[in-house]
Amino acid sequence: MSDVRNVIIIGSGPAGYTAALYTARASLKPLVFEGAVTAGGALMNTTEVENFPGFRDGIMGPDLMDGMRAQAERFGAELIPDDIVSVDLTGDIKTVTDTAGTVHRAKTVIISTGSQHRKLGLPKEDALSGRGVSWCATCDGFFFKDHDIAVVGGGDTAMEEATFLSRFAKSVTIVHRRDTLRASKAMQERAFADPKIKFAWDSETASLDGDQKLSGITLRSTKTGETAPLDVTGLFIAVGHDPRSELFKGQVELDDEGYVKVEAPSTRTNLAGVFAAGDVVDHTYRQAITAAGTGCSAALDAERYLAALA
Ligand code: FAD
Repeated sequence: MSDVRNVIIIGSGPAGYTAALYTARASLKPLVFEGAVTAGGALMNTTEVENFPGFRDGIMGPDLMDGMRAQAERFGAELIPDDIVSVDLTGDIKTVTDTAGTVHRAKTVIISTGSQHRKLGLPKEDALSGRGVSWCATCDGFFFKDHDIAVVGGGDTAMEEATFLSRFAKSVTIVHRRDTLRASKAMQERAFADPKIKFAWDSETASLDGDQKLSGITLRSTKTGETAPLDVTGLFIAVGHDPRSELFKGQVELDDEGYVKVEAPSTRTNLAGVFAAGDVVDHTYRQAITAAGTGCSAALDAERYLAALA
């Protein structure tokens, strides 16, 4: 049986590495499970990040994450590029099991498993990510100054992305499968009133065109099946996010959409000694800096919890 650690961190995005950095500097020797395939988290799949403070000229997503990783390691965080496949978080000593079946024990666990944006499931979607295809207007809108852009989706997020993007773009076409929107009335009205926003009703994206960069998309009518090209150089996909919280179901309290519930502004979950940070908690902001911020809070919450046990 392994030693009982002070802290186990599940996830290695900005939230997990920041929690690792803080708990390592507090001499808590955190054990971090980084994930088997996507160590470093969501920013490993992007190109330039221009809105993480401290990098005047921007930084490539993977370079930013390598830096966070190295900084946590420098202070003694132990990093393991593996997935946790099951957990028991209910007792005073928590257990997490890796893919080899090894059980690891700790007094506190920080959940920072992130969220997954829903994809359209089209060929080239991954290849063109960061090359015209994006899931985050706040992150990438600035790159599309004076471009013609499409936004896919009919909910609040799609309307918010579209109205935000219309500040930069030449035009924004909202592509929606139906002829009415799911978004709240207020958000719809803002979009309808925006002279740069157009709607492609009863339409879905049939294909993404271009090789090195997005050069256009093909729309297909959900009524007639007819296809037509749409001349855009940017596509923002806003069809929802799924928090990676399946592993914790039945133990940690989740909300209706599967996000981990915390006693905000703390990162405490319903289970003593279990904290959660980053996009797995966050419906609203979903930024690297906010994930890093709550990762810091989770580390400090865990540190205080451990101090109270001593
Ligand atoms: P993530 O970064 O998603 O990391 C979660 C980690 O948990 C992953 O490493 C995963 O492998 C791991 N994990 C999950 N389950 C397990 C498990 N069972 N066991 C072990 N590990 C597990 N934000 C910005 O601020 N600026 C940008 O320019 C920007 N660009 C973006 C571009 C793209 C393409 C994407 C997808 C997102 C972008 N974002 C950007 C958003 C930003 O990446 C996220 O808000 C941020 O990464 C969330 O951090 P996180 O630590 O909560 O989760």
